[in-house]
Amino acid sequence: MEDRFKVFMAVWILLAIFSLAFQRFNKDVRLKQKIYPWTMIGMGIIFIFFTIWVGAPLNSLFFTVPSLILICFITIRNSRYCPKCGAFVYNWNWFDKVKYCSKCGAPL
Ligand SMILES: [Zn+2]
Repeated sequence: MEDRFKVFMAVWILLAIFSLAFQRFNKDVRLKQKIYPWTMIGMGIIFIFFTIWVGAPLNSLFFTVPSLILICFITIRNSRYCPKCGAFVYNWNWFDKVKYCSKCGAPL
């Protein structure tokens, strides 16, 4: 079980590095906006797979799956890419929309 957890952590760290590098170095804003929701959903599915694979009790999925769905929904809803500079803009105010890029000030 401990070896499986190490594999889980290694895969999770590699996915994080790849994701950050893609966000940082890819300049195609349309592509980033298009694949971002699918990336979040894919990461959620991978997380659930690893949760089961490392041996977590199956009844823990009653808490894990709805939590992941909520987290993915909120993250996707509150995230934007600036069409001008390509910066990732996350709205921390859940009840209001971000109208301008925090990096360059362009309207979103
Ligand atoms: Zn911008």
